[in-house]
Amino acid sequence: MSVPRKNDTNLTPRGPVLVTGGAGYIGSHTNRLLRERGVETVVLDNLSTGHKAAVEGAFEQVDLGDRAALDRVLQKYKPTAVVHFAAKTYVGESVENPAIYYRENVFHTWNLLEAMRAHQVGAIVFSSTCATYGNPIEVPMTEAHPQAPISPYGRTKLHMEHMLADYAAAYGIAFAALRYFNAAGAHPKGDIGEVHVPETHLIPLVLQVALEQRREIAIFGDDYPTPDGTCIRDYVHVVDLADAHLRALGLLQAGERDLRVNLGTGTGYSVKEVIDCARRVTGHAIPARVAPRRPGDPPCLVSGGTHARDLLGWVPARAELETIVRDAWAFQRRHPQGYAGHT
Ligand code: UDP
Repeated sequence: MSVPRKNDTNLTPRGPVLVTGGAGYIGSHTNRLLRERGVETVVLDNLSTGHKAAVEGAFEQVDLGDRAALDRVLQKYKPTAVVHFAAKTYVGESVENPAIYYRENVFHTWNLLEAMRAHQVGAIVFSSTCATYGNPIEVPMTEAHPQAPISPYGRTKLHMEHMLADYAAAYGIAFAALRYFNAAGAHPKGDIGEVHVPETHLIPLVLQVALEQRREIAIFGDDYPTPDGTCIRDYVHVVDLADAHLRALGLLQAGERDLRVNLGTGTGYSVKEVIDCARRVTGHAIPARVAPRRPGDPPCLVSGGTHARDLLGWVPARAELETIVRDAWAFQRRHPQGYAGHT
């Protein structure tokens, strides 16, 4: 079959789509975008870290480890595709307790794939990560960069990619592995955004300082081999990420079988640049203090891949750091306690 490309106009995904982890950060934004495009969805989430207040449309509180419940959901909604966000995502926790990561990431994905086989669901878009590459041997990192993850988290995500590729080859379940760089920002409406408990990510923590919920931001290391000594990351707006999922799903449904795509803007910002940007956006002095390096942080992670543009026709529309921080700030100001009190 000839594989469609970005210029094809008919790549809007078809539903119903099962969104696992759709109560989480990137899942809730993708679920909203699917629904805005008229695609029927059902969110499946065990609410272990997700937020019911972030879910729109049909919702089933189900754990992916519960095969019988999964079967009931697939039987009831008859999805034609899955967008799979449900996973554990903390590098540090994965080092301390890898068993949770192998169960919830690897085993639960196997469970999902087996249920998809049984119910003949033919396509899956999967949240992968640049953490599957491990320490960069060259930056920017293209999709061809060797995958040698350095944490249990990254290894489970790589196992999941391998499982998807094997299932695609053997059973014809088409897949897209979208390797995110640093997801950031919030919906421009300001009603859904990033809420992690505990929060470990730079931008929300910096904004918590601006809200005076924290006294200062710790800069984890200023002696890296980068221009200002702090780590460089490629921050990508969550709504742009959501858009890439729809494009990938449309391509799979149009005949593509195997997509492995980096999602980053290609531009890196240092920790100090992020803090300066937040100072401009919030008007707050945001005190910062240099702290020791955080174990496992590579100095620089920037996407260099062109598959997103070439295959998906994806060019991030909100690539400016200031736009990302502004949207995150609008959300956090409206939700200083996260989703608590928002139903
Ligand atoms: N970072 C920091 N102070 C913090 C949290 C993060 O200096 O309180 C740094 C971290 O070392 C990394 C960058 O900010 O270089 C982005 O970290 P984050 O946890 O947001 O994302 P990650 O790159 O780990 O996925």
